[in-house]
Amino acid sequence: MIINGKPNQSIVYPSDEFKRTAHISSINEYKHLYKKSIEDPEAFWMDIAKEFYWKSWSQNNDFLKYNFDLNNGPIYMKWMDGMVTNMCYNVVDRVIEKGLGDRVCYHWESNDANTYKHLTYNELKQEVCKFANALKSLGIKKGDRVAIYMSVSIELVIAMLGSARIGAIHSVIFAGFSAEALADRIIDANCCLIVTSDGAYRANKFIPLKDITDKALNICEHKGHQMIACIVSPHLDLSVSHQQNNKDINYNYAINWNNKIDIFWTDIMSSVSDYCQPVWLEAEDPLFILYTSGSTGKPKGMVHTVGGYLLYSYLTFKYVFNYTDGDVFLSTADLGWMAAHTFNVYGALANGCTVVLFEGTPVYPTPSRLWNIIDRLDVNIFYTAPTTIRSLMKFGDHYVKSSKRDSLKVLGTAGEPINPEAWYWFWDVVGDQRCPVVDNYWQTETGGPMITCFPGATPMKPGSATFPFFGVVAVVLDSNGKEIEGPAVGQLAFKKPWPGLARTIDGKHEWYQITYFQKFNGYYSTGDGVRRDSDGYYWMTGRNDDTLNVSGHLLSTVEVETAIVEHRAIAEAAAVSAPHPIKGQCIHVFVVLNNGFEFNSELNKDIKHRAREKIGALAEPDMIRPLTSLPKTKSGKIMRRLLAKVTRNDFDFGDTSTMADQSIIEELIINSSSY
Ligand code: ATP
Ligand code: MG
Repeated sequence: MIINGKPNQSIVYPSDEFKRTAHISSINEYKHLYKKSIEDPEAFWMDIAKEFYWKSWSQNNDFLKYNFDLNNGPIYMKWMDGMVTNMCYNVVDRVIEKGLGDRVCYHWESNDANTYKHLTYNELKQEVCKFANALKSLGIKKGDRVAIYMSVSIELVIAMLGSARIGAIHSVIFAGFSAEALADRIIDANCCLIVTSDGAYRANKFIPLKDITDKALNICEHKGHQMIACIVSPHLDLSVSHQQNNKDINYNYAINWNNKIDIFWTDIMSSVSDYCQPVWLEAEDPLFILYTSGSTGKPKGMVHTVGGYLLYSYLTFKYVFNYTDGDVFLSTADLGWMAAHTFNVYGALANGCTVVLFEGTPVYPTPSRLWNIIDRLDVNIFYTAPTTIRSLMKFGDHYVKSSKRDSLKVLGTAGEPINPEAWYWFWDVVGDQRCPVVDNYWQTETGGPMITCFPGATPMKPGSATFPFFGVVAVVLDSNGKEIEGPAVGQLAFKKPWPGLARTIDGKHEWYQITYFQKFNGYYSTGDGVRRDSDGYYWMTGRNDDTLNVSGHLLSTVEVETAIVEHRAIAEAAAVSAPHPIKGQCIHVFVVLNNGFEFNSELNKDIKHRAREKIGALAEPDMIRPLTSLPKTKSGKIMRRLLAKVTRNDFDFGDTSTMADQSIIEELIINSSSY
């Protein structure tokens, strides 16, 4: 097996000034701490656990029990088994007890960037307690499942934490999903209550959330699934009343009201007390369910637990961003995805951080949106995804450069491999070459970053997520499941447990075992390809399902795409393997052009040539296929499996409910007929 192409050797160092205030200020310090975390994980994580409140601390020494070997029975992992705590208490009450009650925990900005709100930790506690009491008044108790279907808002966080306070398990469903997708997830997780709002805007698109919820609940009812209640927050029009066809509503939309189950947020919140005793839970009790993005197939409902997730979200937030007391954090991740569960909510609050939530998209009302927020709220840490960076790059440097951004200290990226061109733009243009760019690799399943840069410690190689986080034993396996030492190309797996790992797929433990543990017994298998270079840096090479196999040689989708995106005409690229009558398989690359460029035979030749030159003859695509946009999940990940099917004229796309823009399917079919 070969991966052609030379590793990108350029290294960018964090500045001495940054290092001076960093928690970890050299690579040796990282290595020392990392070694400790691996040699004695129980002692390492027990020290972290001591920073939190535990109602009861287990006297036995079973801080970690696990089985990763299917020959020894079912896969399981238990951290701090028997110890008792509450997540909400630790991330809200405990922060207040430390004297930070008056600190703002959330700034919120509406879609049109015209309405602002903020909330202190003291206020958050009151609202969360009220919501917890509201749930209790409806009969919700420990273990019940609460669906949350709302746009990014403080109320969404209140609903999450209110559930966590009484041991109800929340399942946040991204507000861009359809009624069918929402119903599927409600039924799959057996939710008995839903929290939604009247509606929301995403850029200039109106999303009738209550309507969609009504439709979803109808589907649920037809399938025999009953709900106790639907709590409706008056998000868009603060004067909205639960009267049908209310004439006061200032947009052309009136919500339907079903007296049997609909409950007005404001009514129920005003009828309950603002203190609620936390329900004490076992460390291994479930905290929430969250579905994966669905890039490679049917979304999986991952179950995260109270104790392990608390430790992992807290520590990753602290070290990945070098969080320092008083820092303000802005992330473009939607609360419907894992990055925001860990970093906009639990990990940030556990550190007592101030978080900026914004509704809508990063380029609406103008491409200055994020830069304005950063200046207005003196944001110190800015976290986003490569797809957002690339879309911001398209607008040129002007919008960024019209802002000061002098409060910024750390920039972060995650969710997909970042191409060096986007990395350098982030570093140069956004961070003025002052802020370390931390790339972190993780999955909904992993609870937090697994491979990550440590600002202040890690010499950065643009395009590499660099090194394993504390407690993470990363290995590269060959196709027989044998560990490869030193520089290697293969599949990324984790050998030892870490506290953040999801314990199961909700109600489907067999599927969990098959997906993550069966292929390479004894390891958690990520399903992602990786290359480890001679300095020990990890470079993600693409999904195993998306492997490019040309004449028996495996090529990385990421390498081919990176080479092609460097062409000034290309905004985005997705490489997939396609059938070939002689070679068996060849490469087709779907591209999106930058504004002002036209696809013609010259450009076609040029792009092919670039891949050949940068990587090698094998990597030369047989076909370049322009599209107006690539098919992506609602969380922004490229769905290469659909493109691979298009090359085979196979339009049985399977589950496309996670696709952001269904209209692309039509373009894919048309595209296919022209080849
Ligand atoms: P599904 O599991 O349903 O197919 P998904 O894998 O896209 O969906 P997520 O959990 O949202 O769902 O995404 C995790 C995946 O994102 C990783 O497995 C990896 O492929 C990719 N990824 C995340 N962060 C990075 C990163 N920094 N560099 C490279 N790839 C990344
Ligand atoms: Mg996945």
